[in-house]
Amino acid sequence: MKHAKGILQRILQVIESAPLRMTRKRERLLAALVALDRPVSAAALRDKADLPASDLVTVYRTLETFEGIGIIQRIPLEDSGSLYELTEPNDHHHHFVCRECHRTERLDLCLGQELEKQAHTLGFTQVAHLMEVYGLCEDCQVAS
Ligand SMILES: [Zn+2]
Ligand SMILES: [Zn+2]
Repeated sequence: MKHAKGILQRILQVIESAPLRMTRKRERLLAALVALDRPVSAAALRDKADLPASDLVTVYRTLETFEGIGIIQRIPLEDSGSLYELTEPNDHHHHFVCRECHRTERLDLCLGQELEKQAHTLGFTQVAHLMEVYGLCEDCQVAS
């Protein structure tokens, strides 16, 4: 899943206009996200950014900050933990996730409007939804 051309530029624009101080660690984490070009765990991201193990908390905090300004989408895993995907600001989509190797594919199906309608019928407001589909990818089927 390669990023469309120009995504980095748009992400940098978001960062520039956000009330956000880009520290060297944040810059390294952003560069690692771009280089990896796929959803990754916080630990894998820390490895790629070549930060010490003690910086894992910083990694989580940075990811949270990036999520707050809309350039990271968090993909919850089935058991525990999450993957983090660099995303176009305001892009909304779902994923297929391999539960073994955490390979992800974009899922171009969203029932958001339908869900919101139903939620409103039930009196819910400020509705949000998550939908991730878990399974075994082809490579992991062969391995097991
Ligand atoms: Zn797999
Ligand atoms: Zn959706």
